[in-house]
Amino acid sequence: MRFSRERSMSRRGFCLCCVGGAAYAGTGWLTPREAFAEARGLVSLFKDNAAVASVATHKLRNNISVLEGSGGNIAVLTGPDGKVLIDGGIGASRPQLTKALADLGADPISHLVNTHWHFDHTSGNEWLHAAGAKIIAQENTRKYLSEVQRVEDWDYNFLPLRPGGIPSEVFAAEHTLKLNGTTIRLKHYTPAHTDSDISVTFGEADVLHAGDTYWNGIYPFIDYSTGGSIDGMIAASDANLAVTTNKTIVIPGHGGPVSNKSELQEFRDMLVAVRENIAALKKKGKSRDEIMAAKPSAAFDSKWGSGPIDPGFFTRLVYEGV
Ligand SMILES: [Zn+2]
Repeated sequence: MRFSRERSMSRRGFCLCCVGGAAYAGTGWLTPREAFAEARGLVSLFKDNAAVASVATHKLRNNISVLEGSGGNIAVLTGPDGKVLIDGGIGASRPQLTKALADLGADPISHLVNTHWHFDHTSGNEWLHAAGAKIIAQENTRKYLSEVQRVEDWDYNFLPLRPGGIPSEVFAAEHTLKLNGTTIRLKHYTPAHTDSDISVTFGEADVLHAGDTYWNGIYPFIDYSTGGSIDGMIAASDANLAVTTNKTIVIPGHGGPVSNKSELQEFRDMLVAVRENIAALKKKGKSRDEIMAAKPSAAFDSKWGSGPIDPGFFTRLVYEGV
C-alpha cells in the first residue's frame, strides 16, 4: 500500500491524524470494517512507534523550544513559573519527553495547554498531569476527552482519558496566561481542523503555535467528525496569516516544526486551489470516484503529497466539505 509503514516510523509525521490515510490508500476505498481493522492495527503500531521514536529539540528564541517526535509538535516555555507545554504528545513517548524536558532545565512541569482534542496531542495528558501540569484547553477539548469519541473517517472509537488527563481549566473564546515573563494568548478558531482548535501566541517572543490548523509541507487531516471542514481550515489559515509578520516563528501541528509566514501562505494558497478544483468538478455533477480519477490536486502533489495524508485521502477530505 502507498502509506509506508517505514516512513511512518520516521520522527516526523506519524500521528493519529495520519491513520486514516492508510484506509484509503492502495487499491481504493476500504469498507468500514476493513478500515476499522486497519486503523486498529495502525493505532497499536502508532503507540509502539511512539515508545521508541526519538524526540528532537529545536531552540527557538527567548526561552521557547519545540520538541519534535511525539505526535504533534510540542512547544515548551521554561522559567521560574515552571515549564509550560503546548500539547502533550503521545503517552508512550514519556521516557524520551521526560529526558528532552529535563535537558531544557530544572524547572518543574507546571502547565499544559492542549491545542485540540486529538490523541497525538493529548495522550500525554495523564502522565504530564501526574508530573505537575495543570491542563488548560478550549471547552470542546474537555468535552471530547471526557466521553467516547467516534471518528467516522477511521470508523474508530476513542475512549475518554482518565480524570487526571482531563483539562481542569477551560474557556470558550479566549484566555491569557502570564507566565515566565511571557504573555501567552489562547484563542479559539472558528471550526477548522476540529471545533476545539486554539491558537497559542507567545507575545514578546513573536511565536505562534497554530496546532493542526497548519501542516508544514504536507497535506492536512481534517476531522469532520468533530466539526472540522476545508472551509474552516482556509479561514483558520487566513486568521493565522493576519496575526503573523515576516519575523514571526510559526509552529505547525505537523511537518517541519520551525516555520514562517511565507510557508504558511503557501499552505493557505494550496488549500484554496485544491478546494476550488474539487468544488468546480462537484458543481459539474461529477461523482466522488470521477473526481478522484481526475486528480484535482495533481499540481500540488509533488510538494504536499509525500506525507501521511496522501493525495487521494486529501481529495476525499476536501470533497466531503464542498
Ligand atoms: Zn489533529
